[in-house]
Amino acid sequence: MKNVLVTGGAGYIGSHACKVLRDQGYVPVTYDNLSTGWEDAVKFGPFERGDLQDRARLDEVFAKYEPVAVMHFAAFSQVGEAMREPGKYWHNNVGGSLVLIEAAVAAGCLNFVFSSTCATYGDQDGVVLDENSAQMPLNAYGASKRAIEDILTDFGASDGLNSVIFRYFNVAGCDPDGEVGEFHQPETHLIPLMLDAIEGKRPALTVFGTDYPTPDGTCIRDYVHVMDLVDAHVLGLKWLEDGKGSRVFNLGTGKGFSVREVIDHSSSVTNKPVPIVEGDRRAGDAVALVSGSTRANAELGWSPERSTLQRMISDAWRWHQNGHYDK
Ligand code: UDP
Repeated sequence: MKNVLVTGGAGYIGSHACKVLRDQGYVPVTYDNLSTGWEDAVKFGPFERGDLQDRARLDEVFAKYEPVAVMHFAAFSQVGEAMREPGKYWHNNVGGSLVLIEAAVAAGCLNFVFSSTCATYGDQDGVVLDENSAQMPLNAYGASKRAIEDILTDFGASDGLNSVIFRYFNVAGCDPDGEVGEFHQPETHLIPLMLDAIEGKRPALTVFGTDYPTPDGTCIRDYVHVMDLVDAHVLGLKWLEDGKGSRVFNLGTGKGFSVREVIDHSSSVTNKPVPIVEGDRRAGDAVALVSGSTRANAELGWSPERSTLQRMISDAWRWHQNGHYDK
């Protein structure tokens, strides 16, 4: 059995990746400090509690499991928070990733799958966002991810580190079996907040900005089902194991939906109205982020078939009503 070190395996996307890795015959070893993750979400392999900045602990874990690859999900990932507390993003995301990358290289683990983001592109009105697009992040979250991409490139040149970098668009939905799901505290993401508002757990969803230059005035995003997203990670891992070398891939569907369109779909999936209030723009938000690349399909054979709004919202809704984790 091959071990894969999954940082952030107790978090939303990492826990789904662990499930798919386990299903594909790997042993996912979760490395997580539980700052935002949940031990209850670690169900598919061993758990090693630790911090990215703790080099001695990382060395111990690399020596114990001798992983064939790292999948690096652990990060802070909220745009609003990144605008208020950029230092947190530079210290944890960039500083922590640097320690992790150095530990991986020292251990001879030279296959690295990294969660980057479309937030590295920033606002580029009318430009098709493919992997060669300029990266002009609007916030410290996107800037921290771009910096980590640069670190990976440098260690590729110096030490032969092979990296598959995935630039995610907006991830949504959850495991249809309900074993793991999306559970953040505090929650900041559109779809879970909307489902809370539908259930009356919050008075209303605040729509962040209704005066954007889009057809209905709200921001546009490209939503990807988390199960499709983690499938891409396994394809990326196999790509590295096959010796195909470093590569960047956008993970999006190529189709954008406005905040109002997501609200309308949620209302029809749940058959309930979404209470909303219209608020100000959120600092750091891009107007529209939609992938314009087919590279992941052409080169990895990835096709995001579950990534319809209907499917993402209905899977999230099922989890929302039944699933949660306890500290
Ligand atoms: N959004 C919103 N109200 C909320 C949370 C998000 O209107 O309470 C909008 C946000 O401005 C963005 C979209 O929903 O246009 C997706 O935001 P989210 O935080 O889910 O993901 P991000 O795009 O920041 O990764």
